[in-house]
Parts: sequence; C-alpha cells; structure tokens
Amino acid sequence: MGAIYAIANQKGGVGKTTTAVNVAACVAEAGRETLLVDLDPQANATVGLGVAKDLEPNAYDCVSGTATLEEAEVETAIPNLRLVPSTPELAGAGVELPRLPGSETRLRDALAGVRERFLFTVLDCPPSLGPLTVNALVAADKVIVPVQAEYFALEGLAGLLDTLGLIRREMNPGLSVAGMLLTMHDGRTRLSQDVEREVREHFPDLVFDTVIPRSVRVGEAPSYGVPVTQHDPASAGALAYLRLAREVAARG
Ligand code: ADP
Ligand code: MG
Repeated sequence: MGAIYAIANQKGGVGKTTTAVNVAACVAEAGRETLLVDLDPQANATVGLGVAKDLEPNAYDCVSGTATLEEAEVETAIPNLRLVPSTPELAGAGVELPRLPGSETRLRDALAGVRERFLFTVLDCPPSLGPLTVNALVAADKVIVPVQAEYFALEGLAGLLDTLGLIRREMNPGLSVAGMLLTMHDGRTRLSQDVEREVREHFPDLVFDTVIPRSVRVGEAPSYGVPVTQHDPASAGALAYLRLAREVAARG
C-alpha cells in the first residue's frame, strides 16, 4: 500500500515545489508508481514538469468534485510519474472551498483509492495555511517541511507544528511529520551553518540528515521543464534529492 506525503510550509520560496518535483522524480525513476498533485495556483510544479498550466480537468476539478483523479492525471516525461496539474483557477478554491459541504475532506475523498494505484503520492502545497493546505494535511499520511537555510528560518515553524497538531487531533489522527528538510544550504556561509545548527537543536528528531545544497542546476532545471535528476543527474543537487528519497523511504 502506498503513502501520501504533503510538502508544506506556509512560507513561500523555501523549496516546497522543488522538493515535491525532485523527490517524486527520484522515487519514480527508481521504478515506483508515483503521483504528484499540484495544489498551488501558481502551478510551478506543473510547469516545472513541462506540463501546461491550463489543462482541464485539473486539481481544481478534483477538489470541487467535477472530475475524478484518474480523469485529471496526465503522463509526464518521467517514467512512472503522473501529475494532476494545477491551474490559476485554484486560487478561487481558497474562497469557495470553505462554503462547500465537507470542505476540509474534499481532497481526501478525491484521493480515495490512490494508495492502491501509487506507492508514493506527493501533494505540493501553496505557501499558506489556507483551505488547500488544510485539505492536503487532512488527506496525507506524512508531512515533509522544507526549511530554507536562511535567517528567519525558524519563524513560523512553531505555528505550522501547532496546525499539524490541531489537524491530527480533529481530523487526521494518522498524520505524522516525516521530517524537516534544510534547503538551499550553502556550506561555505556561516549563516547556513548557524541556521542548520539551530534547526537541529530545536527539532532534534525531526530534521533529515540529508541537506539540499544551494545549486544553480536545481534552480535552472524548471526552466527546462524537467527535474534536476534529468537536467544534470551527477550534480550535487540531484544526488542530494536521491539521498533524501532513500532517507524518506527508510523512515517509512
Ligand atoms: P516554494 O515552492 O516553497 O515556494 P520553490 O521550490 O519554488 O519554493 O523554490 C523557490 C525558488 O528557489 C525557485 O526559484 C527555485 O528554483 C529555487 N530553489 C529551490 N531550491 C533550490 C536549491 N537547492 N538551489 C538553488 N535554487 C533553489
Ligand atoms: Mg511552490
């Protein structure tokens, strides 16, 4: 049976989408059936996988109930990796969702049966704790929290963990934190080293051993519409995401 991972942090630009795309690609390239659901109206994961952001049906239709997941899934250029694409329309879901019945469980309902078809399902969340992220956390088994190795990294993490606790108590008792992931780490700078030490001290059991380095290759891969594992498989960023995929699997 497969597992569903949400990639969440209400901060923007911390590496959620980059992590969602590249971990999904690593798992898929290892031969496991993988699904990425792009839940961000900015559709960066969709475009980063070389898929158009105006396809129908899409993630919006799945959440609003007008299409099934299977109808919305498309192939990607990566073997074993399918995508439910996003659309700018999803921005409207943030407003509409709370008015719909069962507004917090709509994605969970849409994902019913997904664990039988995919070993690894990844939900790329928008940069907020709004209705779409809540839907993702209610649907997920585990959460990966990317943390940018920058000043203010810890800011907001306590709030995020509170939200996870609330969702676990009220709606999804099976939810757990797979781990926090340090991203855009630059080992040459004092700042990155300090942030890493601080995050590991604060959350000793939660932080992945794997750290994602800041890498030009990782940053430019989306402009080619491919994960970094295809853009430059031997690059430090690609190898780091491969290590992360193994660590995620090992943590179970
Ligand atoms: P989020 O989804 O949390 O908003 P993204 O994954 O889109 O964050 O990353 C924000 C920006 O940083 C993007 O332009 C992305 O390409 C870049 N980026 C992410 N990770 C790295 C990295 N390890 N090295 C270099 N650039 C990165
Ligand atoms: Mg994103």
